[in-house]
Amino acid sequence: MIKEKLLEVQNHIADSRTRRSDEYTDDVLLIAVTKNHDVHAMREAIDAGVTDIGENRIQEAKEKYEHLDRQAVWHLIGHLQTNKARQAVKIFDLIHSVDSLRLAQSLDKAAAEIDKVQQVLVQVNLAHEATKSGIYEDELMELLLQVDEMKNLQLMGLMCIAPNYENVEDCRPLFAKMRKIFDKVKEISWQTANIKYLSMGMTHDYTIAVEEGSNMVRVGTGIFGPRQY
Ligand SMILES: *Cc1c(COP(=O)(O)O)cnc(C)c1O
Repeated sequence: MIKEKLLEVQNHIADSRTRRSDEYTDDVLLIAVTKNHDVHAMREAIDAGVTDIGENRIQEAKEKYEHLDRQAVWHLIGHLQTNKARQAVKIFDLIHSVDSLRLAQSLDKAAAEIDKVQQVLVQVNLAHEATKSGIYEDELMELLLQVDEMKNLQLMGLMCIAPNYENVEDCRPLFAKMRKIFDKVKEISWQTANIKYLSMGMTHDYTIAVEEGSNMVRVGTGIFGPRQY
């Protein structure tokens, strides 16, 4: 079941890649979002070929991290509170949700304590939604420069969550704009940053995101079915 759905998602991604502009040659990395799904489902997904998993809550991730007897790259995709930074750096290979100087500083400090260089993305709130996290575009560059200065953080790119529009096509201009920002950020000569990832697209909008230049999609429901809360 998971295997078939995974294959379906992989095929959709491949199709969408053929429809995007020729200037976007990057591969698309699929993150299987396993929040609210148990370790059995995670094992099944990994055995079917998933390499990267995404979680959004520290406590849940920690429990699974201790029980998962499989190799995987761990992504934190949900909002992170500064007081959980220490736990986050112990588990996650890439943290997608840096959206303030304060959080970046906490992560930098926590990573230094365990002698790690923590890879991070900065989350952008492009649609200025008050209910969502992410930094606004006009403050983005300043935060990127600050993160680039931090010794125990390595900036790897940008992440965004599109608004929940009634018509999913309405996400398209926003994704296209994110790709433009990403390309601009990539051109800058950074000290330690290595701008590679543009994390955008979830189950209902990842095909559009890939068409518009996403190279990292976060798919939960499309692989595992609906979540039980
Ligand atoms: C839950 C979640 C996803 C995956 O959502 P689906 O609709 O199940 O694909 C992706 N990104 C973030 C930030 C999430 O919290």
